[in-house]
Amino acid sequence: MAEVVAVDTPVLYFLRTILIYESEIANNSQLRMQRNTEVTALTRRTVLQGLTALGATAAAPLAHAQTATLNVVATTGMIADAARAVGGDLVEVKALMGPGIDPHAYRQTRPDILAMTRADLVLWNGLYLEAQMENFLVELGRRSGTHVQAVTEAMDRTRLLSHDDYENQFDPHVWMDPTLWSQAVLTIDFIFAALIGKKSGDMSQVESVVETLHANEQAYQADLKLIDGYSRKVLATVPEASRVLITAHDAFNYFGQAYGFEVVGIQGISTESEAGVNRIRELVDTIVGRGIKAVFVESSVSDRSIRALVEGAEAQGHELKIGGELYSDAMGEPGTYEGTYLGMIDHNVTTIARALGGTAPERGVLGKLNAGS
Ligand SMILES: [Zn+2]
Repeated sequence: MAEVVAVDTPVLYFLRTILIYESEIANNSQLRMQRNTEVTALTRRTVLQGLTALGATAAAPLAHAQTATLNVVATTGMIADAARAVGGDLVEVKALMGPGIDPHAYRQTRPDILAMTRADLVLWNGLYLEAQMENFLVELGRRSGTHVQAVTEAMDRTRLLSHDDYENQFDPHVWMDPTLWSQAVLTIDFIFAALIGKKSGDMSQVESVVETLHANEQAYQADLKLIDGYSRKVLATVPEASRVLITAHDAFNYFGQAYGFEVVGIQGISTESEAGVNRIRELVDTIVGRGIKAVFVESSVSDRSIRALVEGAEAQGHELKIGGELYSDAMGEPGTYEGTYLGMIDHNVTTIARALGGTAPERGVLGKLNAGS
C-alpha cells in the first residue's frame, strides 16, 4: 500500500498559477508574440521542482518504488486516453468506464475499489460528473495512500459554464471543447511529473522524466489543436439557421459555446431524470417551427426520448432524421479510432456537420472514421 500523499492545496495552487499563465498567453496576442520557449521551459521546471520538493517533504516516497511505472486508474475513457498518451511507458492506466457507460449513474464495483486502493493515482473528472462516486473518491483521497486528482481541479473557472440542474455547480462536460480539455491534459502532465519525481527522489532522473512527459503532452496537444481546427472549419459550413444540436442530454454545451451552436438537451445535464411529455411536446413544436432536420442519439444514454421526438414531428408532417449516434460521455470501442479522444470528437463533429447540411469528409479529418465497420 502506498503512503499518504497529502497537501493537495499548494500543489493545486501551482497548477492553477501555471494554467492561468498559459491561458493568458493564449488569449493575449502581445504576450503570445513575446512567448519564448525558454521562459515556458523555465516556468515549468520551477513549478515542477516546487511540486517535487513539496512531495518530498509531505510524505515518505511512494511504495512500489522498485517499479518504474506509476499505477493509474482513470474514471472515464477520455481521461484514460490523455493519461496513456502523456504518461507513455512511465504509467500503467486502467479505465473504469468503458464504451456506453453513463458516468452520471456509474457506481464503483468491488474490483474498481480494489484497483483504486492499490493505485498510486486516481484521475477523475470532477465537477460532479461522477455523481455516484464522489463521496467514495473524496474519502479515498483522505484516507488511503492513493493520490486522488480531479483533472478539472486547476481549470480556469472563467471558462466553465454553469450547471442548469444544480446551483453553484459547473457543467462537467469539459472534454467537448478541445481547447478547454487541453488544460486537463496539462494537469495530468504535472501530476505525473510530481508523483513520478517523488517516487524516484533523484533530481537528475526527474529532469528526464519531465522532458519525456512534456514531449508526450505537446504531441497530444497538437492532436487537440488539429481536431479543434477541423471542427471550426467543417462546422462553419453548416447553414447558420441549422446550427441547432438536439441530443438526449445536455453534454454539448461546451461544444456549442466553442463552435457557435445552440444546444438543446432533452434531459438536462445529468441523465437522472426522464424527459416529461410536456418537454417532448414543446421540443417537437420548436423542431417543426424552425425546420430542424436532424436530432442525435448518444452512445451512453437511452434513445427513447429522441425517438419520441421523431414520432412527434412525423405526426405534424415534419420529417425528422436521426442524424447519427454521438459519443457524449463515453468513447467508442477500445482498439478502434472512435475509441480514442481524437476519434470520438472527429466522429461527433463529422456526423453533426454532415447531418445538418454542412460539408465534411465522410471519413473525418484523418480519413480514419468507420474503419472498423
Ligand atoms: Zn453527461
